[in-house]
Amino acid sequence: MTDLKGRVALVTGGSRGIGRAIAISLAEAGAAVAVNYRSREHDARHVVEAIHATGGRAMPVCADVSQSVQVHEMLAAVQRALGPVDVLVNNAGIGLVRTVDELTEEDFDRTIAVNLKSVFLCTQAVVPGMQTRQWGRIVNISSGAARGAGGVGPHYNASKAGLEGMTRGYAARLVKDGITVNAVAPSLIETDMVGAVASSAARIPLGRFGTPEECAQVVMMLVGNAYMTGQTVALSGGLSFL
Ligand code: NAP
Repeated sequence: MTDLKGRVALVTGGSRGIGRAIAISLAEAGAAVAVNYRSREHDARHVVEAIHATGGRAMPVCADVSQSVQVHEMLAAVQRALGPVDVLVNNAGIGLVRTVDELTEEDFDRTIAVNLKSVFLCTQAVVPGMQTRQWGRIVNISSGAARGAGGVGPHYNASKAGLEGMTRGYAARLVKDGITVNAVAPSLIETDMVGAVASSAARIPLGRFGTPEECAQVVMMLVGNAYMTGQTVALSGGLSFL
């Protein structure tokens, strides 16, 4: 297992679903973990308590990561309590299921702000410290919808395709600073979000949804690997091959 003792990690949207499993895996590897949430404080506290119960360090931290001021306040709070962030997992996201007829400008703007702009805001905020320390790991949670049709809508496709472009852009520019930037592209992981997108796993060749823990395993592989950067790893039970 990757040894993250002495490292600080921030997981956006760590209160539920995939982010929750990632936060717990990072803590199991020894990192002190900041568990970000937007509204579900109770769920975030539950994740933190689970980490404390196994002897780990963690804190809940509220912020709407699409808002610049809130991102800066979040990073300041994490730095005060745990230290500067070494591992950033940009996981927070929304999947507003819309047909082409239903899709509004507001839906589009909100989706781009939460799924894409947040990655820019959080990355810009942590990179200077990572450059100073010449070590950092950034993992962005994309989706099979970055390259496939997906079940949410064109706004979601655009946000995740943009995220993968940003992953490569940062990876190319930060590799000499000891910072890797990669993406994971899951398709249909059993969380609250998938409940809104797909009612059955019949589309998945493996015959079931993936688990948040399987997604967290891929994130941990990327965090543990210094040579891999600018890549997107698909995780889809045989649904897609990037
Ligand atoms: P989820 O169960 O709906 O959880 C979403 C998480 O994001 C929650 O912790 C939520 O916080 C947080 N969040 C939402 N908007 C936020 C904001 N503006 N600021 C801060 N936090 C915010 O979703 P999930 O299925 O675990 O998805 C996690 C990521 O995986 C997303 O980026 C999603 O697009 C991606 N993904 C999921 C699937 C899938 O099949 N599940 C497939 C492909 C990609 P609160 O608890 O406070 O609301």
